[in-house]
Amino acid sequence: MTNKHNSCGFSTRAIHHGYDPKDHHGALVPPIYLSATFAFPTVEYGAACFAGEASGHFYTRISNPTLALLESRMATLENGEAAVAFSSGMGAIAATFWTLLRPGDEVIVSQTLYGCTFALLHHGIGEFGIKVRHVDLTDLAALQAALSPATRMIYCETPANPNLRLIDIAAVARLAHQQPNVTLVVDNTYCTPYLQRPLELGADVVVHSATKYLSGHGDITAGIAVSNQALAQRIRLQGLKDLTGAVMSPQDASLLMRGLKTLALRMDRHCSNAQALAEALQAHPAVESVIYPGLRSFPQYELATRQMKLPGGMIAFELKGGIETGRRFMNALQLFTRAVSLGDAESLAQHPASMTHSTYTPEQLAQHGISEGLVRLSVGLEDVADLLADVHQALAKCGRNTVRQAATAPSAVR
Ligand SMILES: *Cc1c(COP(=O)(O)O)cnc(C)c1O
Repeated sequence: MTNKHNSCGFSTRAIHHGYDPKDHHGALVPPIYLSATFAFPTVEYGAACFAGEASGHFYTRISNPTLALLESRMATLENGEAAVAFSSGMGAIAATFWTLLRPGDEVIVSQTLYGCTFALLHHGIGEFGIKVRHVDLTDLAALQAALSPATRMIYCETPANPNLRLIDIAAVARLAHQQPNVTLVVDNTYCTPYLQRPLELGADVVVHSATKYLSGHGDITAGIAVSNQALAQRIRLQGLKDLTGAVMSPQDASLLMRGLKTLALRMDRHCSNAQALAEALQAHPAVESVIYPGLRSFPQYELATRQMKLPGGMIAFELKGGIETGRRFMNALQLFTRAVSLGDAESLAQHPASMTHSTYTPEQLAQHGISEGLVRLSVGLEDVADLLADVHQALAKCGRNTVRQAATAPSAVR
């Protein structure tokens, strides 16, 4: 594999890393190897592949040339050594948990997690003799107190889905690594490596739902885990090959590589659109509160500017009148689509308490800082004036008599 672009910038590597057309009949776009199995020249070579002594491809659930190219690109973009591709984000997360945790181990997880990760912990690994402890990881003293000799993993999302709470990755990594055998795993779905690279801050494994920004077009489900060689190899040979079998298809790897080519461009636009919408929402009298890392009012604004290149494309907010008004607002949207998922070209709106986070009971939602009235926006790539117009017309419709349309012009895009 050609790695002549190793010293190049982010977008150059996202487009070129690991591939040279001259090795592939001049094909500009990498070929898709659909083959499930690969020929052995001799029985001895086949045996060496199975023993891990030869590095050839032999079965696509374990490795495939198209997947290998994608994996090398994700590894360089996250500044890790190796990556493993999965058929979904949950495939990557489940394989990482099952590989690194055994009965008797403890895993410390942050307060707010994507709904299916929460369900995997509480209805999956938590029922197999692994102790799950939720700790507010913004409180380092609480983390220090929760660490025990049985702790094997710390797991977090930053920003968290859906309430955008941030975790200081470098600070948590310092505490985690005071103790041997503790692996810090960070879900980097909301940021992508363009905005935040947890491995550079001390994390050991990064996981992604590549269904979201990385692919960016809403037409595949995919997941990635990135780490050092040794951990990635364990996740591949245990978590992927044996424990989940959740391998990505080579066609999806090709679509994901197409998405990566425009990742930086798209993220810049997602972020500038989201900044303008967050400012407009904050200025509107119908809005109770807006959570967006690019607003000065964001409680962890300083950490956001230190840890993230830009504030991201996701906004959470609450309207005056709570969930009822929120429902009317979402039903009044015309350009935004009412749908779960995020990171697509299309702007999406959803209600976490009844949709993506309905795996939490109402009590758990309250305990974990997900308020019932929260509306989540995934700000897409449309023209910002059209997005602002849609939000303003929906706000005008959802309100009671007290709500007037904001008279101010849309604020400048930062
Ligand atoms: C969507 C999502 C996942 C799960 O990924 P799938 O590709 O849907 O399996 C995990 N973490 C976060 C933060 C997500 O948004």
